[in-house]
Amino acid sequence: MASYFDEHDCQPLEDGQTPNHALHLARLLLDSGLAAEWDMEYNRFFGGEGRAPPASKKAVAELETKLVSPTIAALGKKCPICLLEFDEEDEVKIMPCGHQFHSGCILPWLSKVNSCPMCRYELPTDDPQYEEFKKHQARAKQREFELNSLHDSMFG
Ligand SMILES: [Zn+2]
Ligand SMILES: [Zn+2]
Repeated sequence: MASYFDEHDCQPLEDGQTPNHALHLARLLLDSGLAAEWDMEYNRFFGGEGRAPPASKKAVAELETKLVSPTIAALGKKCPICLLEFDEEDEVKIMPCGHQFHSGCILPWLSKVNSCPMCRYELPTDDPQYEEFKKHQARAKQREFELNSLHDSMFG
């Protein structure tokens, strides 16, 4: 029981007390206002087009690396960056999202941007401000979800 209230950052209701939805809604709306301010800060820092910092060196070092096997080479798959087929014995890096690239193609990319060129899956970065922003974004999503379910419970 205790963990529910801890997670949701609110006080358990006393006996006979009714939940104050309006107050909760007001607080969520206030928080959303702060979220907008945060986005402006972010745009100032990162250039306004969601320009992300490079992937963290640790995350890049930990990417799975393998050599292209004859079987894979026979499939004629192409590296999405250089558009050349993966040749036997080519060294490839495998992103956590499953996309594969030549090491020589993806490494320069990840030294500029932290996301997969195919699906924008994001690796961690070494930039504390950007990491804070990502956490903030996750919280904003959670809040949006709460706001929607609260709206449904009040008006649905
Ligand atoms: Zn390549
Ligand atoms: Zn990907």
